[in-house]
Amino acid sequence: MKNKLPGEFQLINLLSRSLRQAGEPGVIGVGDDCAALPLGEQMQLLTCDAAVAGRHFTPGLTPWETVGWRLGSANASDIAACGGTPEWALVSLALGDEIEPGELEALYRGLEEAGAEYGYRIIGGNVSGAEQHQINVFLLGRTARFVARGGARPGDLVAVSGDLGGAEAGRRIFEDSTGNPPDSPVERPLLERYLRPRARTDLAGLLRETASAAIDISDGLAAELGHLAGASGVRMEIESALIPLAPGLREWAALRGADPLRLALGSGEEYQLLLTAPAEHQRLLTEAGISIIGRVEEPSAAPPERGEPVAESGEVLLDGRPLPPLGWNHLGWNHLGWNHLG
Ligand SMILES: [Mg+2]
Repeated sequence: MKNKLPGEFQLINLLSRSLRQAGEPGVIGVGDDCAALPLGEQMQLLTCDAAVAGRHFTPGLTPWETVGWRLGSANASDIAACGGTPEWALVSLALGDEIEPGELEALYRGLEEAGAEYGYRIIGGNVSGAEQHQINVFLLGRTARFVARGGARPGDLVAVSGDLGGAEAGRRIFEDSTGNPPDSPVERPLLERYLRPRARTDLAGLLRETASAAIDISDGLAAELGHLAGASGVRMEIESALIPLAPGLREWAALRGADPLRLALGSGEEYQLLLTAPAEHQRLLTEAGISIIGRVEEPSAAPPERGEPVAESGEVLLDGRPLPPLGWNHLGWNHLGWNHLG
């Protein structure tokens, strides 16, 4: 019997150890939302993401156009998190037998709509057969300044764009609805957050101007805070009352007997941006609808030496208490699950 796969972070550390170190001047490798190469005065950004049947979508239930839009958004979000603008995409399809031409057209409609929204064009790809559908998008973009995860410094503000929790509430509403749109005026906009998330490419310029570090919220705020703190070797102090909740989330959570704060902390695939910035930029950030949720502080223990693998999660305090990692990793729910917070 084969061993079970290790967790996502252990897997990335294992794979990156087996890579030949690039060693090329200016090349940014594993550990950020995108890899990057020097491109004249700018940086070329490269990222990829997959939609796997049964894992990221449910054939027969998730509309194909939605699969395309969500996958385009996931990729564009990684480019935005590095301060960049999406440009060119390749699409690699591995398809099972049961797909109709009309469904493929709908998938591409979703990918193209996302391209029109975020500014990328699909210029090629590959098709193969598979046991189950799997769609991979490889996206290229560029930035005048690469915003990394490792730049947060003590004294910086911690900030998040938009509001949170809607994507997870929407996912649960979607799974319960078995494809029928909900009647509830509270549920419809939350469902929309799940079906049609928007990557924040509109904030890339502001990130380049202000951010010391950034990451997109694909695994949930709690997990991303840990990633930023780990990569930067700092401690993050967050105030729960400052975390922006999606409209209707409190009301929906009360009906479901769920905790809106836990939903906001664990909600993945939000595609909002989490960033740190020097305090002098506070006004620019809040004017752009970005909420300040905390501060960067010196770590309690010495950060790892340079070149050591980055820890899965750095030090994060929520209302003065340690925050366990909570959210998605791409191989399943985080091992701490839902019920370990407070
Ligand atoms: Mg990301």
